[in-house]
Amino acid sequence: MSYCAEATLTPEVYANLVKTNPEVDAVYITDHGMAVYFPSETAWSWTYMADSRIFDKQKDWGNARLEAHLANIAKFKNDGVHPGLEVEMMHDGRLTIDDPFRDKVEILIGSVHYLHLDIEEDKKIILKEWKNHTKALLNTGISILGHPFRWISNQMPVTRKIVHEIVKDAKEAGVALELNGHHVVPTDIDMLQECVEIGVPVAIGSDSHAISEIGDFRYHIEIIDAAGLSMADIRRFTPKK
Ligand SMILES: [Zn+2]
Repeated sequence: MSYCAEATLTPEVYANLVKTNPEVDAVYITDHGMAVYFPSETAWSWTYMADSRIFDKQKDWGNARLEAHLANIAKFKNDGVHPGLEVEMMHDGRLTIDDPFRDKVEILIGSVHYLHLDIEEDKKIILKEWKNHTKALLNTGISILGHPFRWISNQMPVTRKIVHEIVKDAKEAGVALELNGHHVVPTDIDMLQECVEIGVPVAIGSDSHAISEIGDFRYHIEIIDAAGLSMADIRRFTPKK
């Protein structure tokens, strides 16, 4: 459903991947909440981030789309294909998913794709706003914080101290941090090392937008190696839910 993904990415493709690749146990389809709830033009305008009435107006339309989408994925449940969603947090702390649907997705990823800032030139304010937003997002009930440092890395260099702070917040909130293979950022090694040190689960996400990216974990292996870790250090984390 995501506007930024290849149209050929269907549940059938993923079901086939699980069937033909013994290394893949399961796939979670995590479309963008904003793509489910808004037509493309509104989705990319990000206006709902600062005015959630736009979300309320779209809610029934989005819920119907999400319902149909989930019903479609459910057909592939026995093939190892599961529903998830990647959502944004709006200014009032609500996520771009209607609350009754939260239990219907097995994994909820919260990500910062856009921040509405009144003053955009002061780096200190940008950093503060981003930190506040990220901390609030960590406490909305999400399972995974998607590409945690991507947005801020595009604004300014991100220090190890900042990475440490967010990893600690994730620990407190009981949220996993995603090592994202699609959006590569300079903080990935620091984040992985801090997660190991502090004890925060890492979600190895391929964030596939194209068929060629599905199941491609070469970047993750490279970063695990660069962080001074080995595959033998990786323990599989089984969530309670
Ligand atoms: Zn994302």
